[in-house]
Amino acid sequence: MGLYIQTLALSIIGVFLLWFAYTLFFRNAFIRRATRRRRRKPGKTATGIPGAPRTCPVCSAILAKGERVKSTAYPSMGGKDRLMHISGCAYCLEGDRVRTCPVCGATLKPDDILVARMYDKPGRSHVHVIGCSQCKKIGKK
Ligand SMILES: [Zn+2]
Ligand SMILES: [Zn+2]
Repeated sequence: MGLYIQTLALSIIGVFLLWFAYTLFFRNAFIRRATRRRRRKPGKTATGIPGAPRTCPVCSAILAKGERVKSTAYPSMGGKDRLMHISGCAYCLEGDRVRTCPVCGATLKPDDILVARMYDKPGRSHVHVIGCSQCKKIGKK
């Protein structure tokens, strides 16, 4: 009886390990293919004027319709403006483009963010970048 349970346990472990190895292998192959495909897209992102509409404030990439800049807006502290943290667009978050702060000109690391104030206006909201996590000295441990 003990031997039976032992054999059962061993085969379960065996199957699990096999499954794990397969998942790891296939996932790696998939990621490699995905990155290669992304690199093959040549010159899809043109560099625009910083601050222009539909332009990433971090890397100045001109974004197509539907492409969004990843940002977090915080609730208003009673004023007309809201604090906003901008991480970047799909291109610079993937490391394909150089991320720079429009205020201090520093090159941003992948975990650095831009700090902005968002003014809610009827019709459209205005975003004003006031610095990055380097020149605003936030998020530093
Ligand atoms: Zn960007
Ligand atoms: Zn800065």
